[in-house]
Amino acid sequence: THLLDGKVAVISGAASPRGIGLATARMFARHGARVAILDLNEADASAAAASLGAAHRGYACDVTDRDACQATIERIVREFDRIDVLVNNAGITQPAKLLDIDAAGWDRILDVNLRGVLYLSQAVLPQMKKQRSGSIACMSSVSAQRGGGILGGPHYSAAKAGVLGLAKAMAREFGIDGIRVNCVTPGLIQTDINAGKISDEKRAEILTGIPLNRLGGVDDVAGAFLFLASDLSSYITGAVIDVNGGMLIH
Ligand code: NAD
Repeated sequence: THLLDGKVAVISGAASPRGIGLATARMFARHGARVAILDLNEADASAAAASLGAAHRGYACDVTDRDACQATIERIVREFDRIDVLVNNAGITQPAKLLDIDAAGWDRILDVNLRGVLYLSQAVLPQMKKQRSGSIACMSSVSAQRGGGILGGPHYSAAKAGVLGLAKAMAREFGIDGIRVNCVTPGLIQTDINAGKISDEKRAEILTGIPLNRLGGVDDVAGAFLFLASDLSSYITGAVIDVNGGMLIH
């Protein structure tokens, strides 16, 4: 089935070979979308796009740079003619105890995970308004809901919780324009962000808290983004979808 036939999707932070962004791009492409991959490095973004096929493009875009977001989205609109889907996926983490967070660490984590969502959404929303439709899906984390994840520090938790509020505010403001905005809150997903950072012992301990008894894979999250990007979710906005194996059942 081609859930995204004719749609153009922009995905930030999607060049990382084992990351959630590229897995999402791959799934979107398989479902008929043309995908614009944004990441820090142009060559990496282009290579990632090429791996999906000729219809896709890669762009260098640091989401913390407002001008870069504006310029990149303008280029994408020129080259693809439209934007139907934005996945705000770019993110970084840092393990830290609260008392050890310094100004630079706070700024770095908040800038990429939260400010980046604002800047890229601000760049895309006028085009979606013009089209009178669009779907924006934002990457949050179980860390936002639990007040700390497994690896991210309190600043990461705060940033990802900020994403939930920002996305809900965008959902309220732009619903009138036919634009939906939702979030995904993954639990522990195996990617480079945590590769090699979890001991076997820690892993076993984590699994006791996960009813499905396994860590998540990138396609588990990509599937939720596919649903939110497609018209299957046409009456869903301001929602938060947990993708955590049941870690947060209460
Ligand atoms: P990853 O490190 O493989 O991917 C992150 C990507 O973002 C990288 O390609 C990186 O180059 C890019 N990036 C970093 N800073 C950027 C910037 N300023 N501008 C543009 N791109 C930038 O990790 P991942 O696990 O695939 O993470 C993807 C998203 O999922 C992140 O937002 C992360 O916080 C979130 N998340 C991950 C997990 C997990 O367990 N892996 C759980 C919950 C949420």
